[in-house]
Amino acid sequence: MVSDDFFGSALKQLEQALEHASISLEAKKILMQPKAVLEVKIPVGMDDGRVKIFTGFRVRYNDALGPAKGGIRYHPLVSLNEVTALAFLMTLKCAAVGIPFGGAKGGVAVDPKNLSQRELESLSRGYVRAVYDFIGPDSDIPAPDVYTNETIMGWMSDEYNRISRKLVPAAFTGKPVSIGGSLGRNTATAMGAYFVLKELIRQLKLNGKELTVAVQGFGNAGYNIAKLLHNDGLKIVAVSDSKGGVYAQGGLHPDSVMKVKESKGMIDGVYCRGSVCDDIEHAHITNEQLLEVDADILIPAAIEGQITEKNAGKVKAKIVCEVANGPTTAGADKVLHERGVAVVPDILANAGGVMVSYFEWVQNRAGLYWSSDEIRGRLESGMLKAFRDIYEMAQQLKTSMRMAAYVHAAKKVVEAMAHRS
Ligand code: GLU
Repeated sequence: MVSDDFFGSALKQLEQALEHASISLEAKKILMQPKAVLEVKIPVGMDDGRVKIFTGFRVRYNDALGPAKGGIRYHPLVSLNEVTALAFLMTLKCAAVGIPFGGAKGGVAVDPKNLSQRELESLSRGYVRAVYDFIGPDSDIPAPDVYTNETIMGWMSDEYNRISRKLVPAAFTGKPVSIGGSLGRNTATAMGAYFVLKELIRQLKLNGKELTVAVQGFGNAGYNIAKLLHNDGLKIVAVSDSKGGVYAQGGLHPDSVMKVKESKGMIDGVYCRGSVCDDIEHAHITNEQLLEVDADILIPAAIEGQITEKNAGKVKAKIVCEVANGPTTAGADKVLHERGVAVVPDILANAGGVMVSYFEWVQNRAGLYWSSDEIRGRLESGMLKAFRDIYEMAQQLKTSMRMAAYVHAAKKVVEAMAHRS
């Protein structure tokens, strides 16, 4: 269930965090609302000859630290409230990990699974025509998010270039490598989360122990983090997607799960049927049950509003690593903190994606392209620095890592605002 007031929930967390920071009332007021909001209607000629009109949004939340940055989401439940909340989180995320970008987000209310490839391309190009004047490499730079990917960024970038009558590679990130995308961008969100999670495990002196992991959401980030952790010897005991999931005490192989998902379109109930069958004991669970399974680490990697006041008391994990944006409501966050669960907040845990987007933008502007090793090294040091700053601040303030991350980020945004009028 997506929370009704995602933005309200995010602002509640900001208000709580700001109790630990001396920030003026005026600055708070600016931080609590978006700078600019655009709603567009996108007509798309469908394959059956009809014209369907889709609603899209782009929200620029704050650009004190630099051009606003954030993905574009395709999902049936996209709303202005959701896009605003996500743009707010992007603002704090870029600040939290030291990227010279502000925050933005876009979205289209659509179920992309119901569109043909041609309709999807037409919608993506239509979105760019509709928001063209609102975005740009020096003002607001989109990227992929839920149900958008590098192919869609390729179409969008191409449409942007056509309208501009020149190549503007830095107008979009997350593009295919052949047209200016960065090596490592596709796995960057998972890789960034992996670096901070490993560091937290070290800080909590849990390394060397056989740790079990449950992953909710098996898209790009969910699959890749499961794979990285599996390769490192952690046991992935449960995975799910919106249609359902599987729990196997003996451990699951992320690649086998992915093969099943690709061939059957779902994870639930098919892991041990058909041609792809790892001979292991497993139980079928729902996407909601996954959050409560017996695992040391819970990784919500789907959408917002999953851990709520209703189920937060039932989470058994000692660590929650938020690869999704906003998976924990403000009320649930309090419950988890009181129960001693270490939550790596989304604005830190999933910042690897936007960090490599920043590297892509830099490479596009310089016309000089880096190796995978260079990108991995920069991502690792950037993520670890942010983790240490935030972890230390949480210890100092005696708060959760989310509160510390919010304080750390808000201070940077407010400081930049003070230098602009
Ligand atoms: N959509 C991703 C996020 O929520 C990446 C944004 C970007 O690369 O600009 O962080």
